[in-house]
Amino acid sequence: MEFSEFADRAAAIEAESADLETISLVAELFADAGDDLGSVSRFIQGRVFPAHDTTKLDVGPSLCYEALAKAAGRNVTITDIESELAETGEIGLVAERLDLGGQQGLAAFASDSEERLTVSDIETELRSMATASGSGSTDTKRDTLFGLFNRSEPLEARFLSRLVLGEMRIGVGERTVRDSISEAFGVPVESVERALQVSNDCGVVARTAKTEGEHGLEGIRLRVGRPIQAMLAQVGTALDALEAWEEVAVETKFDGVRIQVHYDGETVSLFSRNLEDVTDSLPEVCNRVESSLESPAIIDGEVVAVGTDGEPLPFQQVLRRFRRKHDVEATREDIAVELYAFDCLHIDGEDLLEKPLKHRHKRLKEHFADGSVTRTYSNDVEEIADLESGALTAGHEGIMLKNPGSPYTPGNRGRNWLKRKPDVETLDLVVTGAEWGEGRRANVFGTFLVSVRTDAGYEPIGKVATGITDDELVSLTERFEPYVRTETGTTLDIDPEIVFEVGYEEIQRSPTYESGYALRFPRLIGVREDKSPDDADTLKRVERLYA
Ligand code: AMP
Repeated sequence: MEFSEFADRAAAIEAESADLETISLVAELFADAGDDLGSVSRFIQGRVFPAHDTTKLDVGPSLCYEALAKAAGRNVTITDIESELAETGEIGLVAERLDLGGQQGLAAFASDSEERLTVSDIETELRSMATASGSGSTDTKRDTLFGLFNRSEPLEARFLSRLVLGEMRIGVGERTVRDSISEAFGVPVESVERALQVSNDCGVVARTAKTEGEHGLEGIRLRVGRPIQAMLAQVGTALDALEAWEEVAVETKFDGVRIQVHYDGETVSLFSRNLEDVTDSLPEVCNRVESSLESPAIIDGEVVAVGTDGEPLPFQQVLRRFRRKHDVEATREDIAVELYAFDCLHIDGEDLLEKPLKHRHKRLKEHFADGSVTRTYSNDVEEIADLESGALTAGHEGIMLKNPGSPYTPGNRGRNWLKRKPDVETLDLVVTGAEWGEGRRANVFGTFLVSVRTDAGYEPIGKVATGITDDELVSLTERFEPYVRTETGTTLDIDPEIVFEVGYEEIQRSPTYESGYALRFPRLIGVREDKSPDDADTLKRVERLYA
């Protein structure tokens, strides 16, 4: 396909605002793209390479402007281009208005400037540009781009400049491409969607749909070494999870960096969440995987930085590893990292995406027992709250709640994975009462009555008994004893002296407590040593949070 034809079609798509019409125009473009179907399906989204391909064009705006200025002739400078840009706000329109072409120079002579540019010329030139590296590579890139712009008609320049900067601005994203492949080649949208998820390559999917139809799409499988989009999570609570599923898979939420591990039986490749190849930054993760795994596999997990005592460090520490590309050994001594694997997408020739999470996790344990996360299946909100407190106490970010029956849906931020981070809005409440514990906790206070501040004093809002270890109960009991005012049966009145930071699932209206509100599943986050009862949260704040 000539690039001018592509540019004409892209301009028509840009001018179309209705979604269905856009899909039809893109479908027609795909149907007419011939052998260039793969490139066209990517170019139309502003992508030069397949999504799984870690090759980067690495052309920044200034390099693009320089090439444009050069192709526009002696009288045009980068400053001219930048001031045009300030006016139009967009490089495509600036490039289109320039009088490009006719410039002489090495790059201009290198190609036959009489011939029209084709989609495949652009693909070949941009690919060779991406492989340029080392000293002089910037000049090579600028010259290649200049050569292409020099041969461009105005409309071609609009879309070429946008393509090299990675943004087509014509409203075509992955969903439009999915629907257009379906429409162009008469295959079900679901088959296209699945094939896109497992291949992460719209070019392959478009070509397969065209030549082999639905049956061909079904044959597309995961491939070790070809990363796919990560499954994502939404924010949610334990109650949300228990309402939706009978049982919840609870895991620690690690504060690290998402890593997709590909092991082909001999070597390991590691990909970050935005599908960059980070293999060289994490050699010990590679060693670990190589020494533990016996079969080819694709595993999903989190890499966490750990301090000398094994405590987790903030995720920025792992990122330092990625930045220090050339000095990994030195950073490695500085920052140790650990892989926590939580999902298995492929093992020993078998794709597991469609299998339920519980099954995938079982397979993970079988093959990578020492590197996989501990997971608890629970249907008890108290137990989940305890797991959360445990994760927080150990220095992790919170917990993840997952649907044990759910498939792995790449790139999808669905409700099958919920991230339960600590409450953003905890309450600082004054302890005004306590109850002796029962059983093995009979000698310590087991429950604390917590109150909000009002104009008249303190009014209870809930009882906290979770999130506290046995040892903490012993020391808290000792701390509170001097403030015990009265004791009736197992119940004690306590002078307002100590402030608890309290997490909860939600605030409810309730006649049970004087404040008129109750906390559902309150738990101790910690003692606010820095706060006195006068600094505790007020009833007004609770009213605001409830509203
Ligand atoms: P967020 O970045 O806040 O959207 O939270 C989702 C991220 O948490 C994922 O992309 C992972 O990088 C990370 N994460 C940490 N622990 C887990 C886990 N056990 N399961 C899934 N994701 C996890």
